[in-house]
Amino acid sequence: MRVSKSGLKKGRAIVRVVGADQSASPHSAHRGNPVRVGPYTVLAGGTSYLQPEDLSQADILVPLTDRIPVGEFGSFYEILAAPMRDFGGVPPGWETFLKEEVVPLLVGGEKILAFCVGGHGRTGTFLASLIALIETSEETPDPIEAVRARHCRQAVETRAQAEAIFALRGEPLPEKYQREFAPRQAPTPTSGKLVWGQAVTSLPGS
Ligand SMILES: [Zn+2]
Repeated sequence: MRVSKSGLKKGRAIVRVVGADQSASPHSAHRGNPVRVGPYTVLAGGTSYLQPEDLSQADILVPLTDRIPVGEFGSFYEILAAPMRDFGGVPPGWETFLKEEVVPLLVGGEKILAFCVGGHGRTGTFLASLIALIETSEETPDPIEAVRARHCRQAVETRAQAEAIFALRGEPLPEKYQREFAPRQAPTPTSGKLVWGQAVTSLPGS
């Protein structure tokens, strides 16, 4: 990846990524892209995309992972930790955490950067949960659809995450998400053997 410094503003380096493979990805914005949550804005990211300079736009970091690459941060940040297991649900006390820790920070005007690894499952769940709490059902009947439109189509990855979001409103998981997150049938062992057999016979000298 080539990085060129295109200018300075308020003593902060503005860095433009040129010709990077990430720029071709629809997810390259997960370097702290602003997502509307009620009247507030939350920055959303993933450690797969975040660059050290992206962190400077935040007052408070909310890592939703159980591990963070501290060595790359380069300075000190206030951290509000909410580790979630990848492809899992939400941690115990999720609603209390959001209402008592996160929302007051947003009300106080703090810029929060929430991130996981890819910026989809856990970050999507964090954003959709805030939407479920801050925006009314009349205003935003489907917080998952809202976060997919405002942040990324791949936001929210598991049934447990989806259920937790609607549970914040005391609502069951809508039919469409029950279908989306229905367990998929595992491929049959026969098809696996066939592929393996083809791969083996195509090896040179075999
Ligand atoms: Zn994405």
